[in-house]
Amino acid sequence: MKNPQRREALKTWTAYAVFFGALFGGGIYISPRLYAKNGYLRPPGALDEKEFLATCIKCGQCLQVCPYHSINMYDITQLNSIGTPYINANERGCYLCDLLPCILACPTGSLRHEVNSADDISMGMAYINDIENCLAFMGKRVEKEDLKTLRSNQNEREAAVLENIQSYIGKECAICADMCPHPDKINAIEMTIQNGKIFPKINQKCVGCGVCAELCPTSVIFIAARKTYEEIYA
Ligand code: SF4
Ligand code: SF4
Ligand code: SF4
Repeated sequence: MKNPQRREALKTWTAYAVFFGALFGGGIYISPRLYAKNGYLRPPGALDEKEFLATCIKCGQCLQVCPYHSINMYDITQLNSIGTPYINANERGCYLCDLLPCILACPTGSLRHEVNSADDISMGMAYINDIENCLAFMGKRVEKEDLKTLRSNQNEREAAVLENIQSYIGKECAICADMCPHPDKINAIEMTIQNGKIFPKINQKCVGCGVCAELCPTSVIFIAARKTYEEIYA
């Protein structure tokens, strides 16, 4: 190659190709570990991620007994987490049922049997992104079209959720704060007012169950799995 400029350009492109090749090629292997590090949203009472992966036998008992159909099992795309249970808060949060049947059903203690109330649960932490799109913040009332289609409506509990969110049509939105299933919900989430704007504020007792994220009509609430209040808000 006689043209030095062309040779330099080729060297640069080769370096980029090697760098991005390593990055994306390696990604196949590193992404599940990265996810595990960032935290999957596991059902209530889950052991630390490493112990959880080592002890969960992927039997699906927690999924079978969940009356809200909150639990899913990872498929092959999640490699070393395949077959393990998770909650997709944007589709269906965990309603923190009395007696926590998922925990009672877990045969290995991967969902810790000593967890028996909301105060013992720490799945993650809710946070709000894009508050400008919150209906309350915008001062808009809830319209029928704003309400999401529920993932499942197969029993009385799920029908009650649907009935509850439909009762907001034509009213101001406070769905996230009102429908938080935490027994001490005001210390988990509350509607607050600042500079004439009303909006939800996440408080210390939030356990990251994801119900607010599921039901928010404009999807402005998210869950940081396995994160604490201090990690998100300190
Ligand atoms: S507490 Fe209830 S809603 Fe939550 S995952 Fe367990 S069984 Fe499902
Ligand atoms: S604010 Fe309430 S509904 Fe939202 S994640 Fe926390 S505990 Fe669950
Ligand atoms: S559910 Fe909460 S965050 Fe979502 S639009 Fe209503 S008030 Fe705003």
